[in-house]
Amino acid sequence: MQKPNKRLAGQTAIVTGASSGIGEAIAIALGRDGANVVVNYLSHPEVAEEIAQKITADDLCGEAIAIKCDVSKEDQVAAMFKQTVNHFGTLDICVPNAGLQKDAALHEMKLEDWQLVLDVNLTGQFLCAREAIREFLRRGMRPGVSKSLGKIIHTSSVHQIIPWAGHANYAASKGGLVMLMESICQEYAPQKVRCNSIAPGAIKTPINKAAWDTPEALAELNKLIPYKRIGVPEDIGSAAVWLASDESEYVNGTTIFVDGGMTCYPGFTTNG
Ligand code: NAD
Repeated sequence: MQKPNKRLAGQTAIVTGASSGIGEAIAIALGRDGANVVVNYLSHPEVAEEIAQKITADDLCGEAIAIKCDVSKEDQVAAMFKQTVNHFGTLDICVPNAGLQKDAALHEMKLEDWQLVLDVNLTGQFLCAREAIREFLRRGMRPGVSKSLGKIIHTSSVHQIIPWAGHANYAASKGGLVMLMESICQEYAPQKVRCNSIAPGAIKTPINKAAWDTPEALAELNKLIPYKRIGVPEDIGSAAVWLASDESEYVNGTTIFVDGGMTCYPGFTTNG
C-alpha cells in the first residue's frame, strides 16, 4: 500500500462551505495529509458532522470538527475563528471556499441577488482572510511545522477572467477576488503569509448540476473543456493540499487554474 503523505501534520485548517462539493473534498484531502480540519457549514449540520467524523475516524487523518457559520456575517466569522483557536490552539491554513450563484440577465437582476452573491463570494472571503491573518500575526512562526506564517487559499473560478453573461454578479465577485488575493499577498508576504487562489473550471458539484446531469448538457459542457471530462472535487482537493504545503513555499499571489484547459479558448480550436 502507498504510504500516505503527512505534509500538513500538526497544522489546523478552516475550510468554509465544506459540507458539499469542492469544500468537502478539500477538507478531506487536507485531513488525509495530516491537518486538523474545521468543516464549516451553513445548513444541514448532520452532513457536516458526518464529514468531520469520517475525517476524525480515519487513523491516517487529523481531527475534524464541524462549525456552523454564515461567512457573510462578521460576528459569526469571528466566533468561528475563536472556536477554532480554542479547540485546536491556533490556525495555519484558511480556505475561504463558500460560494453561491443567483443567476439572472443583468436587466432583470434584483439588487438583493447582486448583493447576496457579493456578500458571500467576496465579502465572506475577505472576512475569513482577515481573521486568519490576525491569528497568524498573533501567533508568529512555527518552526518545524511550516515554513510560512500561514496560508490562505481562496476558491475562485475561471470566471475571474472569463466574462459570464447571465451571471454578472458571480463573475464580478470572482473578478474582485483576484485583487483581494493579490493585495493580501503584496501586503503580508513580507511577514511570510502566502495567499493564493485556485480557479476551478467545471467541477461536478451541486452548484452546477444543470450543466452535467443530462448527457446532452454534459456534451455541451465538454465543448468548453479541451481535456474532455468534467472535473471532480478531488481535482481541487489535491491542488489545495499542495498549495497548503511547504512544497509550494515560493508560490505566492498566484491563481492556479484547475480547469482541464477551459481558459485556453477552446472555441478557437477549429476557428479564428
Ligand atoms: P456547492 O454548492 O456544493 O458548495 C458551496 C458551499 O457553500 C455549500 O456547502 C453552501 O452551503 C456553502 N455556502 C453558501 N453560502 C454560504 C454562507 N453564507 N456561509 C457559509 N457557507 C455557505 O458548490 P461548489 O461547486 O462546491 O462551490 C464551492 C466553491 O467553488 C464556490 O466558491 C464556487 O464559486 C467555486 N467554484 C465552483 C465551480 C464548479 O464548477 N463547481 C467552478 C468554479 C468555482
